[in-house]
Amino acid sequence: MTQKPDPHHIATALIHHAYAPPSAFEGIQPPVHKASTVLFPDVAAMRKRRWQDKSGYTYGLHGTPTSFLLEERIATLEGGTHCLLAPSGLAAISTTSLALLSQGEEVLLPDNVYGPNKALTLELLARYGVRHALYDPLDVQDLAGKITPATRLVWLEAPGSVTMEFPDLIAQARLCRERGVAAALDNTWGAGLAFAPFDLLGDGSLGVDISVHALTKYPSGGGDVLMGAITTRDAALHRRIQETHMHLGLGVAADDLEAVLRALPSMALRYQAQDVAARALAQWLQGQASVAQVLHPALAGAPGHGHWQALCGRQGEGLAAGLFSVVVDARFSSAQVDAFCDALTLFRLGYSWGGPLSLVMPYQLPAMRSRATPHLAHGTVVRFAVGLEDVRDLRADLQQAMDTVFCQ
Ligand SMILES: *Cc1c(COP(=O)(O)O)cnc(C)c1O
Repeated sequence: MTQKPDPHHIATALIHHAYAPPSAFEGIQPPVHKASTVLFPDVAAMRKRRWQDKSGYTYGLHGTPTSFLLEERIATLEGGTHCLLAPSGLAAISTTSLALLSQGEEVLLPDNVYGPNKALTLELLARYGVRHALYDPLDVQDLAGKITPATRLVWLEAPGSVTMEFPDLIAQARLCRERGVAAALDNTWGAGLAFAPFDLLGDGSLGVDISVHALTKYPSGGGDVLMGAITTRDAALHRRIQETHMHLGLGVAADDLEAVLRALPSMALRYQAQDVAARALAQWLQGQASVAQVLHPALAGAPGHGHWQALCGRQGEGLAAGLFSVVVDARFSSAQVDAFCDALTLFRLGYSWGGPLSLVMPYQLPAMRSRATPHLAHGTVVRFAVGLEDVRDLRADLQQAMDTVFCQ
């Protein structure tokens, strides 16, 4: 070691300080590393360092010990081998589409896809000459008929957003594999817990190619972090997405990494608690006169329930997220449904889910779907995201709001 110059001026002395604490510190939570600049010991080391792998560090945007840790834990959660983090779930979706699609090529989306993914495809990807088609999530033959020689990417979602139809994900993944088209699953609902996206049959023979997860929801669990993850099991596919991720300049803040690393150990417990509470409320709502239909894939009779059962319900009660929708009977106006949402006191009005606070949101479904939905009852769709409150209080809240607005 060469002797450092002895700084005589305080400004220099505070930056080039000689003290280093002992390195053997071990707490329960991993340390939070913050960096744009990463220092190299010498020029030779700087020249040798690669940004693409986890053998070292080059620049804050390309990873810190904290981001590497979370990437590896999410890869384990998803059952994949490579993971990239993005500053939101939507950024993870857009990075995936931009990485895999070029001018003149085509992407297929389920009609009940997460709304901003549809908007991205129709509004932004279309400007770059990427074509799209919407397929029926409940009809594998419809998807088969829409795959053309130009199709490069099929988005899958299980269940679909808001209306919660559970597709035959196994048949969809098999079809994509047979036709040689990349299958990307939005796995935010399953969260790596309800089923294994890279091992749909449990024997290692079938999976999707890419699993995208909005860590904003269950992994964060707090309603206060935006983050997304893109997980693969294929090194070449990972490198391709990583290159686009790098060009887009996507970084994740260290404090947000810390929040998710801290919440991850309790995720399975929270998921299960919210599942139990959501199913209890969904079943109770099935018996209410103002409710025409309950859309929860674990309830018998819900659209795609058999597919949920086959994938997520192989053992015991199976697992489902704490999210469901109802169709309020068509005899109630959408203004009355709005009044019902406003009359709730514990369920608050807001987007997202997976946090401690229960949420409600009414939807204008016809504007969101390109095809008819004969499997849905007539009426207004309301989505509930169950938080961590006591389920008896949540049920009482639903009861008082229904009594106030629907029983006049
Ligand atoms: C919330 C969500 C996203 C997007 O996550 P953000 O972090 O809010 O951008 C994507 N897909 C699904 C299914 C979601 O629920």
